[in-house]
Amino acid sequence: MDNEQLLYDIGQLNNLFRDSANIQSLLDKTVEMVASHTRSDVCSIYLYNNENRELVLRATRGLNPDSVGKIKLKLGQGLTGLALKELRPVCEKDAANSPNFKFFPGIFEERYECFLAVPIVRGISKIGVLVLQRKKGQYFDKSDITALEAAASQLANIIENARFLMAMHEPHGEEEEVKTGLSEKLKFIKGKVASEGFAYGPATITNKKKNLAMLLHRDFDYTYSLDDFHTAVAKTAEQLEELQEQVGHKLSDAASLIFAAHLVILKDRHFVGDIVKLIESGINPPLAIKQIGTQYMEGFATSGNSYMQEKTQDIEDLLVRLMSNLLSEAEELDKFRGRVIITRELLPSDLLILSSEEASGIVLVGGTVTSHLSILARSLGIPMVVSDTYELLDLPSNTPILVDGEAGNAYVDPSDEVLERFESQQKARHTLAEQKLSIKPVTTTRDGTRINLFANINLLADLRIACELHCEGVGLYRSEFPFMVRKNLPNEAEQFTIYSKLCELMKGKPVTFRTLDMGGDKTLSYYHDAREQNPALGLRSIRFSLQNKPVFARQIRAMLRAGAEADLRIMFPMVSSIDEFCQAREVVFDCLEELGKQGIEHNRKPKLGIMVELPCIVDLIDDFTKEAEFFSIGTNDFIQFMLGVDRTNENVAGSYLPHHPSVLRAMKKVVRSANQNGREISVCGDMAHQEQYLPFLLGIGVRILSLDPHYLLRVQKAISGIDLDEAEATAEKMLSHTKINDLVQTLNLNTVKD
Ligand code: PEP
Ligand code: MG
Repeated sequence: MDNEQLLYDIGQLNNLFRDSANIQSLLDKTVEMVASHTRSDVCSIYLYNNENRELVLRATRGLNPDSVGKIKLKLGQGLTGLALKELRPVCEKDAANSPNFKFFPGIFEERYECFLAVPIVRGISKIGVLVLQRKKGQYFDKSDITALEAAASQLANIIENARFLMAMHEPHGEEEEVKTGLSEKLKFIKGKVASEGFAYGPATITNKKKNLAMLLHRDFDYTYSLDDFHTAVAKTAEQLEELQEQVGHKLSDAASLIFAAHLVILKDRHFVGDIVKLIESGINPPLAIKQIGTQYMEGFATSGNSYMQEKTQDIEDLLVRLMSNLLSEAEELDKFRGRVIITRELLPSDLLILSSEEASGIVLVGGTVTSHLSILARSLGIPMVVSDTYELLDLPSNTPILVDGEAGNAYVDPSDEVLERFESQQKARHTLAEQKLSIKPVTTTRDGTRINLFANINLLADLRIACELHCEGVGLYRSEFPFMVRKNLPNEAEQFTIYSKLCELMKGKPVTFRTLDMGGDKTLSYYHDAREQNPALGLRSIRFSLQNKPVFARQIRAMLRAGAEADLRIMFPMVSSIDEFCQAREVVFDCLEELGKQGIEHNRKPKLGIMVELPCIVDLIDDFTKEAEFFSIGTNDFIQFMLGVDRTNENVAGSYLPHHPSVLRAMKKVVRSANQNGREISVCGDMAHQEQYLPFLLGIGVRILSLDPHYLLRVQKAISGIDLDEAEATAEKMLSHTKINDLVQTLNLNTVKD
């Protein structure tokens, strides 16, 4: 790159601009000039709007000129959005296959594989992103990055001035651009990723309330008989039992009795009896169902108990099914196979039903996704995005929808071109079979240091992948999942069955059960009655277990029994003091004694450890190593509580920094203490699979990582490229920084490889 010449020319542009208030011509000239100096096929400028936190493509040389003003990215979205969010250059050799790549149909970006984006910033103000793209093999190197950064910083001043002038001359310019017709807006929906993957299929819009209201308010000109009603009841029961069986078959651990409430009501003498009485008195069966059903719904809805209130949904669902069977319209309701479900409300149990009926993808409209709802969708392998576009609920049924769970978007009735693009992207994703071929049984760094890769398991379905990809143990079993997706508390026998499967499949490899991590955003409606003001800091995790000892003890007993022959570890979440750990350990000891007395087979020496998720652990860590036998750093919560930043709140995502100096130093302290005192230490939060942090983690002495099994191959490959001496030096350097910006730069040097 002809660096000096490039800078000189930008200075010229600055002069040029002084005589003009036309930002567009300035930007157009800039992209022409930067593209030609850097010998790039594409140069684009995106400008950032602070109010709606969106980047808009404002000028391009090389991409479809029609896309100017139309391509918009949220902060952090796509490689371009990422560069601005993380305020660092993003350099990719194969952009389209990067997990952060965001595809836009019709701009023809996919033709250029090499990608370089640098943020345009002025002081702390985010201005935009300057992007270069080249065809395959013409990689960008460090000198390109340096030159482009210099160009971006010069541009920052110019654009800042230009914006000011533009605002003076064209005060309504921005607003006009945002206005788009409904149909145009509905073609491409920007949303948030909840579960990765692509899905394409006809839409089924589920709006339970609307379905019910329509059924209840229609006129019934045909008079049905009592026999018709009984047939409908029998048919509904049969369907529900069949559904129950399907869920049980597919997801034995999570299934439980999702339809239990439906079936209990359906078989309730009073419910059916009251309807029959009305029919016998001459009322048309649909009206009789409506009258009694509405009474039941009102009774539950006004009960003042959240568990009972949740049951209202079950009755609604039951009424829709029953009524539809009576009117012979049931088929319309249950066709989820291969379809994209657009819905307003989604419970974990709904997800299970959709998965068992093989829905291909989900668009959740206007809902909030708790971290665990999206973890569940991922475990079930259902691509899911969340959108605020309510108009989606009014789309005609069967409208073809493409769900892009990688970028968090949905396309309504996508063109052939878009579909082709996604098909090839889909093919480029490594299938499990391909990953199996590439993965090695053991993981080592470049210099031969052995690293253990364990798996995080949410549902037994994850374990299959983990086993096929040679995971060396389960580092975190999130035991709350079966509790969350069920509608009642699983008893000891049910838990024993699930835990036994886990131990059996791991064949003697370490299995780390985390005890119930309930509370926060994972509430059990059947258990948590009062709404907490501040649930993240409320009755949760180990505190919940210690206040609900019978529930806790049942879980511990099931674990001890299931792990009789296993390398069993029991880990307590969110422990805040040694006292709390001792209380939890006491419960385990009591269970051990009780099982011994009862002569029930069980594991007599489980290892007991804690999750390091709260900052208050750090200063006590040496003392903790005398009590707990192992530690696992849950970076997701550790960062959240260390920095006081909600891990699920997008508005503060920019402050959620794994590389905050305090986080790094605290982690180092914990790891060093555990290692010095001969206690096993692992990392099981998301940092364990984020490649840019691997040198740091290995450099401070972490040798066990526990991660979502989908990342096993990727992390193994990344580790094989790391030299331990270099990693240690990198970690030292990162630990010496006090400023986040310096840390970002050190991270960049690690990330951008030549
Ligand atoms: C964590 O906090 O890092 C962790 C692994 O636990 P969870 O994500 O389930 O809260
Ligand atoms: Mg946690």
